[in-house]
Amino acid sequence: MPARPIVCALCHSGVVHSGGLAVPGRDLATLPKAHLHLHFTGSMRISTLAELADHHGVRLPEALRASLDWVPPRLHATDERGWFRFQRLYDLARACVRGEDDMRRIVREAAVDDHAEGSRWLEIQVEPSSYAPFVGGITPALEIVLDEARLVSADLGIGVGVIVAASRIRHPLDARTLARLAVRYAGSGPGTVIGFGLSNDERRGWLPDFAPAFDIARRGGIALVPHAGELLGPSSVIDTLSVLRPDRIGHGVRCVEDPLVLDAVAESGVVLEVCPGSNVSLGVYRSAADVPLADLLEAGVPVALGADDPLLFGSRLVAQYVIARDDLGLDDVALAGLARSSLHGSTAPAEVLDRADRDLDAWLSGPPDLEAATSARHSG
Ligand SMILES: [Zn+2]
Repeated sequence: MPARPIVCALCHSGVVHSGGLAVPGRDLATLPKAHLHLHFTGSMRISTLAELADHHGVRLPEALRASLDWVPPRLHATDERGWFRFQRLYDLARACVRGEDDMRRIVREAAVDDHAEGSRWLEIQVEPSSYAPFVGGITPALEIVLDEARLVSADLGIGVGVIVAASRIRHPLDARTLARLAVRYAGSGPGTVIGFGLSNDERRGWLPDFAPAFDIARRGGIALVPHAGELLGPSSVIDTLSVLRPDRIGHGVRCVEDPLVLDAVAESGVVLEVCPGSNVSLGVYRSAADVPLADLLEAGVPVALGADDPLLFGSRLVAQYVIARDDLGLDDVALAGLARSSLHGSTAPAEVLDRADRDLDAWLSGPPDLEAATSARHSG
């Protein structure tokens, strides 16, 4: 009989917590922060996926079926079979997103959920090619996401910017096409393209082939935010630093395996988007206590916590801060530091940063509130 995955009964994060004792602290849901690593389909609520699947007549596997006792699948994506399983689940979820209404719903719900967790600025990452067949091409697909990002930003008071992400499993010429599209809609506020990324299996594709796409995005003045150092080790981080010259790296955590690379990352000032829940769900680390957040911070690397794919990993933004507190021992000063790094590593406009900085100071000067901290754990 297969072993049942261990799930935290408090934050439902699918993460093996080491301590289990509640750490007194301030309410993490009211900690002002930015969310810099969230994928479009992966942001979906599991209940929304169930409704879309029902509507479009798609039969979902057990691992993606909403139920009271649903637990996120435990995957081992560091081997190719495990990654294939992750991608298969992701593709099935993506197959339930069929048209403008579905796409608008995903953007809106991602913003609503982030806003409820204290996020002031969300950068949602989308690969428009996957949705293009249902809406008449990659341009309308991106325009729908941008338009809903603009609308929901005005409605909620959270800013939502969009990262256009190319995929390593597609031809590098596709990446250039997406970079040109991204630059056409480049901006600096909600409802604009603020970044260009590169995602999917790090073991696929040859990095220099994607450099021309990043050059297009660089000339267009948007942030460069590729994934690296998640499935592959420190060499992938150093290669990405030198070949793509990014502003941030998605994950990058495995740079700690080589002190020289860790130093190079710290020296570069590049922000790492660290996603502890994702790392554990994908088997990059055995437990949350193994995520090398302390090593990164000690080396002086700016870190922004992110949820990556809450749909598959069962944990949203606040849950990442809960892990940092409960499993990695960070106190409120350090947690506020992470939140500040997320804000200042983002592309949020200056007025958003100024206000968030003031509110962050107020959060930290307020009294610790154990009851609120516990309720934040439950919101994961
Ligand atoms: Zn990611």
